[in-house]
Amino acid sequence: MTAIDAQLARGPTFSIEVFPPKTERGRDTLRAALDRLEQLDLSFVSVTYGAGGSTRDRTQEVVDEIGARGLTVMPHLTCIGHSRQELVGLLQAYRDAGQRNVLALHGDPPRDNPDLASGDLQRAIDLVHLAREVGGFSVGVAAHPEGHPKAPDRASDRRHQAEKLRVADFGITQFFFRAEDYLTLVDDLAALGVDTPIIPGIIPVTDHRQTARFAELSGASIPPELMERFDAAADAEEVKRIGIDVATALGQRLLDAGAPGLHVYALNRAEATEQVRAALPLDAPRDPQAG
Ligand SMILES: Cc1cc2nc3c(=O)[nH]c(=O)nc-3n(C[C@H](O)[C@H](O)[C@H](O)COP(=O)(O)OP(=O)(O)OC[C@H]3O[C@@H](n4cnc5c(N)ncnc54)[C@H](O)[C@@H]3O)c2cc1C
Repeated sequence: MTAIDAQLARGPTFSIEVFPPKTERGRDTLRAALDRLEQLDLSFVSVTYGAGGSTRDRTQEVVDEIGARGLTVMPHLTCIGHSRQELVGLLQAYRDAGQRNVLALHGDPPRDNPDLASGDLQRAIDLVHLAREVGGFSVGVAAHPEGHPKAPDRASDRRHQAEKLRVADFGITQFFFRAEDYLTLVDDLAALGVDTPIIPGIIPVTDHRQTARFAELSGASIPPELMERFDAAADAEEVKRIGIDVATALGQRLLDAGAPGLHVYALNRAEATEQVRAALPLDAPRDPQAG
């Protein structure tokens, strides 16, 4: 299991995000996808966490299963709905199981529990500090190129992102479609004295209505001209082709501009990520211990 900051120091990474499935069928789908995706020399796989522990056991199980494949894996962890002691327990359990990486997030309340108590830690930065106290982790945080949806204004949002990234080892962004949004974030953070590597998150759209719903929840936007292209597509296959072309062109542009890697929102499927990866001349540094 390699620390992600060490991977980033060696050159551009190529990684994916998956989520813990709710059903046995979903597990089979994820396993089948990973059988294919692990052929891509993945630098690491990150696994989402349902805020408030709604996926706690499933996240840990999926993390263990992916680690057993010899892949570097990074659990996501959220402040929301947890006491400080619970978070210490989760971090210690991951560390004792040999994990070296964690993505420290605030988290959003789950839709079926919107009033979930916020927990002892108020901000993701507090979880970064807690992970440092527990020790042994390369700590990543979320970055929001288009601004966090609840932030009152761009300037204070950038200052808070800078403050958090200054103490983290790396950031991973929300997905976005305009390279300028990422490049402006990186420039703004540099102007605030922060040069922590920020890995852009890209999504090969396979279902544009679903992606639009994700975007609405996360403060990302699908540019209207792109939405028009998707809407004009003859069928679902053409939507996928456009989605892969757009993600590939964006990934290429970001790497050309010096992005430290690419993190693909794989949505537990293999095909779109495989096609994007195949089109990019990227020799990602992978875990040297991986089989
Ligand atoms: C790559 C990635 C992965 C994610 N994975 C998950 C997941 O697995 N599970 C999940 O539930 N959610 C996940 N999220 C969503 C994330 O939890 C939400 O976007 C959440 O609303 C904010 O999380 P954060 O970690 O950026 O929070 P924070 O950094 O705490 O920021 C939250 C808000 O507080 C503001 N803020 C920060 N510091 C201050 C301050 N000092 N004073 C005033 N305001 C401040 C920020 O501007 C922002 O508006 C992910 C997001 C990304 C980008």
